[in-house]
Amino acid sequence: MTPHAANQSLADARPYPVWQEARVDTPVAPRLTGDVSCDLAIVGGGFLGLWTALLARQRSPDATIVVLEAGQCGGEASGRNGGFCAPSISHGVANALKRWPGEAEQLVRLGRENLDAFEQDLQHYAMDVSFERKGKLNVAHQPWQVEGLRSMQRNYARFGIACEYLEGEALKSYLDSPDYVAGVFEPNYALLNPVKMVAELRRVCLAQGVQLFEHSPVSALRQDGIAQVLETGLGTVKAARVALATNIAPPLLGSLKSKVIPIYDYALATQPLDDAQLRAIGWVGRYGIADSGNQFHYLRKTEDNRILWGGYDAIYHFGSRRDEALTQRPDSFATLARQFQSAFPALADVRFTHAWGGIIDTSARTTMFCGTSPNGHVAYAQGFTGQGVSASRFAALTLLDLLEGKPTERTKLAMTSTAPFPFPPEPLRYAGVSLAQRSLAREDLTGHRDWLLKGFDALGIGFDS
Ligand SMILES: Cc1cc2nc3c(=O)[nH]c(=O)nc-3n(C[C@H](O)[C@H](O)[C@H](O)COP(=O)(O)OP(=O)(O)OC[C@H]3O[C@@H](n4cnc5c(N)ncnc54)[C@H](O)[C@@H]3O)c2cc1C
Repeated sequence: MTPHAANQSLADARPYPVWQEARVDTPVAPRLTGDVSCDLAIVGGGFLGLWTALLARQRSPDATIVVLEAGQCGGEASGRNGGFCAPSISHGVANALKRWPGEAEQLVRLGRENLDAFEQDLQHYAMDVSFERKGKLNVAHQPWQVEGLRSMQRNYARFGIACEYLEGEALKSYLDSPDYVAGVFEPNYALLNPVKMVAELRRVCLAQGVQLFEHSPVSALRQDGIAQVLETGLGTVKAARVALATNIAPPLLGSLKSKVIPIYDYALATQPLDDAQLRAIGWVGRYGIADSGNQFHYLRKTEDNRILWGGYDAIYHFGSRRDEALTQRPDSFATLARQFQSAFPALADVRFTHAWGGIIDTSARTTMFCGTSPNGHVAYAQGFTGQGVSASRFAALTLLDLLEGKPTERTKLAMTSTAPFPFPPEPLRYAGVSLAQRSLAREDLTGHRDWLLKGFDALGIGFDS
């Protein structure tokens, strides 16, 4: 596809997530004005903050719970993602084995249990989030990536996870694309509509008596005796306990400044496709798909059979710059459009209706971590690195365990309780990320893992997901 044709296919794309088309307009919650006291204050109204509020309510029916959100709930990553809802809290089985071999079995089990409990919560609260547990197809683009799929199959067998290796006609019956040479289908994987997920969590929290304040950015966190005080421009919240669920925003605890970096990720959505178009690419089921490699794509169908096609570029800006304007990146959109046409020549005439971006909170080991302030009254979780849809529920439970001061299986995990390798200050940070990205791109082309990536592996550092 020529650059001109790519731009043509994007000409009418709306600059916001496709999910917003299904958004039900609910009245914005009030701003915080004046002073409020509560048992638990939560900063951030994305998946993590809202799950923390809801699960806190389950544990303490009488507690006063306040959520403070800088903008509107779901305005950041939670409303912009692909909606892949993994049976994993460790960014997959291979990552668990690589980084925490001693607790990999436990992490795999906890990930599966978390997805089961996630689904039960959806049913219990009658949350309609277009949840579909129809599996995921992992495909290899380059011949050398086939060994990665074989290794995935061996790892899954070790933990009793069902999957099927596919090649030739068997692969074509799941996806017919000249770009992919092999696949592994795993039936236990879910998809959901992230904007509906935020809206439903928010609805249930409000119904359960959680107090929500939107457009109420917290500018400072300080201690006053045994209480924690959160300051916003127009009011304060005094709380016995505080949960920080602010993802990639500048952290309220100074100790978190170097633990995650903002990486911009981009996605497109096509016009709705009819059955004949979907049959032409062999994609008849409603499973999600991801290709292999460091710079991978994720693709799925929306409720109205558009294809969401995202990933590949992972853009870091000097100084960890964050800016709403950076969520629109024509070069990345054109790259994605060209790659889509290469993967699906049968859909050459399809146009893209939406093009957007969002920030992935990237930790140097690609999984979340949790912790508390020295007095144990403030807890945080972050670092989901692109796999936070289901893991945010598990993180919320871990935050609540920490705030109750009771050691649990969740809080004792090395994955949750140890901090990832910090990112160095600039200009080293930018140089390091750029070099690593160059090495990762080279590995994608050749299959060769160079000395830099092997060095990172030895230190437990990775940007590979
Ligand atoms: C393009 C994209 C695709 C993705 N795809 C997937 C996927 O398919 N599957 C998957 O599992 N994960 C995916 N992710 C990751 C997933 O979206 C995140 O891990 C998850 O949404 C994190 O939830 P959160 O609540 O921690 O963060 P957020 O949704 O970012 O919420 C944090 C909230 O805190 C608020 N806030 C910050 N600072 C303050 C403050 N000082 N005062 C008040 N409020 C504050 C923010 O306004 C924000 O609303 C993707 C992410 C992106 C960007």
